Amino acid sequence: MQTNLADWLRDTPDGMEADSILRSCVHCGFCTATCPTYQLLGDELDGPRGRIYLIKQVVEGVTPTRETQQHLDRCLTCRNCESTCPSGVQYGHLIDIGRKLVDRQVERPAGDRLLRGALREGMTRRSLFDTAMRLGQTVRPLLPEALRAKVPQRRDPGAWPVRSHARKVILLNGCVQPAMIPAIDAATARVLDALGIEAVVAPRSGCCGAIRHHLDDQAGALDDARRNIDAWWPLLATDTALASAAGAGNDASRAGGAQAIVINASGCGAMIKDYAHLLRHDPLYADKAARVSAMTRDLAEFLPAERERLQALCRPAVGAHDGDKRPTPPRLAFHPPCTLQHGQQVRGEVESLLVACGAEIVPFAESHLCCGSAGTYSVLQSTLATQLRDRKLASLQADSPDQILSANIGCLTHLQSGTDTPVRHWIEWLDRAITRA
Ligand code: SF4
Ligand code: SF4
Repeated sequence: MQTNLADWLRDTPDGMEADSILRSCVHCGFCTATCPTYQLLGDELDGPRGRIYLIKQVVEGVTPTRETQQHLDRCLTCRNCESTCPSGVQYGHLIDIGRKLVDRQVERPAGDRLLRGALREGMTRRSLFDTAMRLGQTVRPLLPEALRAKVPQRRDPGAWPVRSHARKVILLNGCVQPAMIPAIDAATARVLDALGIEAVVAPRSGCCGAIRHHLDDQAGALDDARRNIDAWWPLLATDTALASAAGAGNDASRAGGAQAIVINASGCGAMIKDYAHLLRHDPLYADKAARVSAMTRDLAEFLPAERERLQALCRPAVGAHDGDKRPTPPRLAFHPPCTLQHGQQVRGEVESLLVACGAEIVPFAESHLCCGSAGTYSVLQSTLATQLRDRKLASLQADSPDQILSANIGCLTHLQSGTDTPVRHWIEWLDRAITRA
């Protein structure tokens, strides 16, 4: 698509990147068919091709309006359109630039600014969010329905392993997940421990930056990224040590540091893998960011290498009993978050591990579609988010699975708010399969 950048944007990093992405779009519209917001609203401007056109106008100097901003706000950033696009258009990076440019020119209503500010500052401050979540969980039965749905019931996380191992990986010291469902990190650490891998959490690390990045605070998001890089850098194995460990049959005990940054929230994983891109112009951090991104693995990418050992550790998985009293495999529906299947292009790995550990995977329709959680989208666009959640749950539950599993804290809590079927992180199920008596 031919573009003529406005003078004020020409020769800037954002302008050059937007120009390059826009030129790769041939305007074919294949992406429109798989866009969740287009499917719900039926408006071209609420689909990827229409949003790309709006952003093209902005970078060419047309003054955006509040209406432009709302069409961009309604995008889930699910990147389903990237998976569909035959031309490799990097829509995710383009919408980031478009939103930044529009927000500089269109002031949001006061209530919107207040809500976004409260989410940005409240969710990313661990101690504040932790306190608020504990309070919310204590008075949960008394909360109004809408608020109760945002506060998951507290579950005992169980013990954190105490053994030390030569093989080490870094876990994210996240913001929201440890406060809402601490059982996810604890289950991850136990599964890794069972495999002889120590999970290390760097105390000075914190939020991955995704919340600020998507709430008009790109500078704050970059600060989050730099803080994490500084916290992880001394813990990472050197390239030489990693090469030597690989040469020794992946015996990372020779690596002398963490062999990977393993992420169990796919939204955070997608963000950390993008540090390399976000900090590419930072002379002090570009190289480090590239290495951190390259060493980041979703749990669904890291564990398949351990499949045989995991399979040996899993106890027979027991679901309902048939007439002969023989155990039948638990029937699980796995919802792959957009940040896993579209953002990181990781597909099928979780399902395969669960089957290896004795589960039956229940297939369902429209597995490529977003559940409506999308970070803070479920709060800021609650009507659309609820429609998408209910549509997703109808598909997931069509064949009555015993449990719904997923891989991102936002999807888990959003889906659970609409069903009585247990919704869990898949590593919690695997942990139970390994530790059950
Ligand atoms: S983003 Fe891709 S699929 Fe969509 S209109 Fe452009 S080239 Fe076609
Ligand atoms: S990111 Fe998702 S919601 Fe946004 S345009 Fe692409 S498919 Fe549609």
